[in-house]
Amino acid sequence: MVQSVAIVGAGIAGMCTALALAKQGAKVTIFERDIPPPSGNANEAFFAWQRRGAAQFRHPHAFLGLMCSLLEQHHPELLEDFFAAGARKMAFADIVPPHLMAQYRHEPGDENLWMLLCRRATIETVLRRHTETVGNIAIHNATYVTGVNTEMRTDGNHVSGLQLTDRHNQNAQSTFSADVYIDASGRASKFCRWFNEQGIDIQERRDDAEIVYYTRHYRLKEGVEEPARHENEPAAGDLGYMKYGVFPGEGGHFAVIICVPNAEKELRTAIKNGSQFDAICRSIPGLTPWVAQDCAEATTDSFGIGDIQAVWRNFVQDDKPAVLDFFAVGDSSARTNPLYGRGCSVGILHGQILSEVLASSGDSTTRALRFAQRTKEQIGPIFDASLTEDKNGIKRARAVMLGKERNQASSAKKWFTLAFGDALAAAANEKIHVFRGMMRTVNLIEKPGDFLKEKHVKRTVLRYMLRGRKRNSQARVQRGPDRDTMLKHIESMPS
Ligand SMILES: Cc1cc2nc3c(=O)[nH]c(=O)nc-3n(C[C@H](O)[C@H](O)[C@H](O)COP(=O)(O)OP(=O)(O)OC[C@H]3O[C@@H](n4cnc5c(N)ncnc54)[C@H](O)[C@@H]3O)c2cc1C
Repeated sequence: MVQSVAIVGAGIAGMCTALALAKQGAKVTIFERDIPPPSGNANEAFFAWQRRGAAQFRHPHAFLGLMCSLLEQHHPELLEDFFAAGARKMAFADIVPPHLMAQYRHEPGDENLWMLLCRRATIETVLRRHTETVGNIAIHNATYVTGVNTEMRTDGNHVSGLQLTDRHNQNAQSTFSADVYIDASGRASKFCRWFNEQGIDIQERRDDAEIVYYTRHYRLKEGVEEPARHENEPAAGDLGYMKYGVFPGEGGHFAVIICVPNAEKELRTAIKNGSQFDAICRSIPGLTPWVAQDCAEATTDSFGIGDIQAVWRNFVQDDKPAVLDFFAVGDSSARTNPLYGRGCSVGILHGQILSEVLASSGDSTTRALRFAQRTKEQIGPIFDASLTEDKNGIKRARAVMLGKERNQASSAKKWFTLAFGDALAAAANEKIHVFRGMMRTVNLIEKPGDFLKEKHVKRTVLRYMLRGRKRNSQARVQRGPDRDTMLKHIESMPS
């Protein structure tokens, strides 16, 4: 049923979509603008691979439960390779805080709540080497897709070919035809622009998260153990004017991210400077055990990425596909704020959905409608939840800048939302079933927030609400300097 397929982009979504389709017997050709990973291990890939096509390549990634369980289910052969390359498994039992351990009993579904800890370079290198061994997948590296051909038929506009520029071959131009075309070219996809230039309108929703995202990589010094998860302050948090987090990697490598609102000019300037980035980290109790001078040394400077936006593209409007035999997966279809670590899980799920849709019908229109429907049902709630979190983050950051207390509510509705949030945080801190539900949502094992519909969870959170906000709000207190103290700290730093 699935025939010849052309995929644009050998990123995470492109390769996983290729693997899913190859299993169904499709002949898959991937076009990738970048060169392949260098020979050698993932460490060499991290430091040496020219990966301009994926600007986020060197930013740290969390690989959530959804991604891990999809890989386990559909590509179990890959997992051993990830572990052999240094990736570590962080199971649900590993993240249960010691004070909840007495309540913890393994429950069905806990086995899906695990994360992979490693750098993206490790995932991509292993995935690439594996994909290269699959007989019916061909990867053309250093080959840019520079345009798309369409033709009008009785049932609508079909994609009929890709325009290519082969960098290996003195920039030779050619066209490639297949039965199905898949855009997995990521956050900088140009397909909508190319379609629009041909009069094919693709609707797009775009919301700026109004943040900048900075990373610095480190390695633990010889003989220094990784700080214990539960013996120290949490290594990730939200100070209102700044979010931070540690991403443990392999072999003593780890990264720290700092994320600040666009409007925080002084902070934005400071985090661009490696030594100021370090000094900011060392002022936060949860980061100190990682970045103290005698614990770790930086392996990169601090570097940032902008254009943090939530983007959703609609390829079907009023039940009419804008274009046929064409499907966008991963970031080129739905992009969420990297802070939530959802992109790779979404990309892999999307590729899986597409492979099932293509296997279910040979008719171009039916395929387009089914894919749009399943994208809306399965990816839509993840996108919507991310957008809501972005909007809340923007509001909170503005309030902190204006010196307003988070606790202040200007209406009964807002008061209820805050009281509910406090009660939920307190309940998750003290009750394993609420903590587990929250982790299911974080790991995308359920539609975001579904655990709140469970009677047991609802009853508990309600009981906590009755305790009153004062007591519950303790659970949300973040250890770290307030904004004024941090700004003074920055002012006192040598530039
Ligand atoms: C700073 C940052 C941090 C992130 N952190 C996380 C995280 O913690 N966890 C998580 O799950 N997700 C995270 N994400 C999101 C994640 O990186 C993406 O969702 C994911 O990579 C999307 O996969 P993709 O295959 O759609 O796109 P990509 O992985 O970006 O791959 C696109 C590919 O297409 C190629 N390409 C582009 N244009 C062309 C062309 N014209 N011709 C040929 N090839 C082309 C590119 O070279 C690239 O290989 C983060 C994103 C950012 C920006």
